[in-house]
Amino acid sequence: MDQDGNQEDAFQISGQALWQWRQWAQQVAIAASVPSSELDWFLLALTGLDRLTLRLGAGKAGGSRQFDQAKRASLVSLKRPLTELTALWQQRVQQQVPVQYLVGETPWRQFQLTVSPAVLIPRPETEELIEVAIARVGHTDLALGHWADLGTGSGAIALGLAAAFPQATVHAVDISADALAIAHHNAERYQMAGRIQFYQGSWFNPLEPLQHQLSAVVSNPPYIPTATLAQLQPEVAHHEPHLALDGGSDGLNSLRHLVATAPNYLKPGGLWLVELMQGQAADVVALLRQQNFCEPQVHRDLAGIERFVSAMCAPEAAFSGSLR
Ligand code: GLN
Repeated sequence: MDQDGNQEDAFQISGQALWQWRQWAQQVAIAASVPSSELDWFLLALTGLDRLTLRLGAGKAGGSRQFDQAKRASLVSLKRPLTELTALWQQRVQQQVPVQYLVGETPWRQFQLTVSPAVLIPRPETEELIEVAIARVGHTDLALGHWADLGTGSGAIALGLAAAFPQATVHAVDISADALAIAHHNAERYQMAGRIQFYQGSWFNPLEPLQHQLSAVVSNPPYIPTATLAQLQPEVAHHEPHLALDGGSDGLNSLRHLVATAPNYLKPGGLWLVELMQGQAADVVALLRQQNFCEPQVHRDLAGIERFVSAMCAPEAAFSGSLR
């Protein structure tokens, strides 16, 4: 049984049959310019094969004869029937469906998160958003109290924050009920449903009772300029939710909204932290300064791209917010 209580290993085929299937899948992948590493990802998720066996090429000609014979004779377990694997792999190569949607999950930080086309697939660079939060909070009491993840999608950031700040309560908001169902499921997978509260609504709206009380607000909002969306890889442009990607004509619509509204919700000295794309950091820092935020900082991702902006809510900004 896996963590979701599904029956695994329900189907078995010979190592040799699976190896032949893999050769077919590799050929169609090469013809469609799909990296063969994705096929390994697919097989690791949907079969009982492990990384080493895939690497050594079980059942493949050219391996050690003894090893090879043992593997050909042995049975490999599948989580779905082979015909279903074939249909799924065809979706990967013909319709450019992301492999994460096909297998229904993705690794992200210490989690294996359920994903569906209702949610953006959590990206590796977003894993670093949690590190930025940890660094900015340090040993302060921001680690306690109420944290918000706005536009939670799969719940990745909410789970990452809940794990990084064990004494915080995380409030995860999304406008999409389908996304929230996935996020809630992910929280349950990691026994975090008691630490994270879920709300359906737009940005801060459902958090009205927490005005001026948040220790931090964190978000990976949609930030791609509308005109750029169509130029993204087909996997993203055709299959991921535009609601989670489309940031309006200059990509900054949601970021502007988060700068303007956060002072009403953050406590004095509270942390504001977002992800954005290359070329947007300077504009967002300027917006934060206009709104009286303190200590704006730009953080690069591991690829060296300016990817995150953080700032502290000034006491006077929080105060003037309360007069509005
Ligand atoms: N990083 C995502 C991408 O490259 C975009 C995520 C977002 O808009 N927040 O597609």
